[in-house]
Amino acid sequence: MNSEVVTSTLERLKKDSLKSALEINTSVRRILAETLIKRGFLEAPPVIFSIVTDPLNHPVYDPSFLYEDFRYSLTKSMIFHKQILVQEIPKFFIFSPNIRLETPDKASSGRHLLEFTQLDLEVKGAHREELMDLAEDLIIETFRYVTRENHATLSKMGRRLNIPGKPFKSYRYLDLLEKYGEDFEARMSREAREPFWIIDIPLESREFYDREKDDEPGILRDMDLIYPEGFGEALSGGEREFKIERIRERILKKGQTFDQFHWFLEIAEEGMELSTGFGIGIERLVRYICGFSRIEDVHPFPKVPGRLSL
Ligand code: AMP
Ligand code: MG
Repeated sequence: MNSEVVTSTLERLKKDSLKSALEINTSVRRILAETLIKRGFLEAPPVIFSIVTDPLNHPVYDPSFLYEDFRYSLTKSMIFHKQILVQEIPKFFIFSPNIRLETPDKASSGRHLLEFTQLDLEVKGAHREELMDLAEDLIIETFRYVTRENHATLSKMGRRLNIPGKPFKSYRYLDLLEKYGEDFEARMSREAREPFWIIDIPLESREFYDREKDDEPGILRDMDLIYPEGFGEALSGGEREFKIERIRERILKKGQTFDQFHWFLEIAEEGMELSTGFGIGIERLVRYICGFSRIEDVHPFPKVPGRLSL
């Protein structure tokens, strides 16, 4: 074992800030789960590997392995499992571990790990606006809860959370692009004092499964929530394409093949209804609450892009 890995791991485990982050992590998971359970959500267990996973819209390495004669991929997100399950279980959430072998340039963002957990949820028959409302409640409940329950920990870190009011501000992707140029998300995040939404993201910036608007081709019924103070993206979500012809059309538009998604397509052919969902990164949420500049400081064993880690 590389001794630098050992030294840096042992140093990290002794830090006061790691204990504080784990206290926040404990509170965050508890209040998120409690709030959703109170609203009638069931908790489903995660899928760690599968014959189909999220293609994502940015390049990552693709970890897969053979078990007997079967090729499995490690879960990048549970998007397809969510869309299939929601047909029978109309409201559920999952604390879903994701493996995304991001390229080493992502290390400098301060918000990418190779292994992280999203609180991933999906609601049958719901539209985007309902899920945005739910996400706002989850953020507000969480900030209130930690402010109350982790008061001493937050003051030790010199962190005071501003509890945002509802509804959060919402901006259309193309309006921001036109006004601020390519770097709009980072710039708006730095200048903002409260979380805000970016909605109506164009088709080429997202995966095939987010639903295209009927009245505005090329624009999706989806959303990103962005943290203020420069912390960047908090969550992504959207309404899903659910009609088999539309799904096939969108896969082709992305230049992808049916073969890659053939298990999902076979199930979608049986008929699906509209659902909407989102996934919020737990480590990013804990990092924001702690006010840390780097996401690895919330994890005892962080996998940082481009680095060897325990
Ligand atoms: P996505 O649907 O790809 O936007 O992922 C959902 C959420 O998971 C994001 O909004 C982030 O909060 C979180 N997330 C995505 N990728 C990473 C990563 N590499 N490291 C940590 N969190 C991530
Ligand atoms: Mg995203």
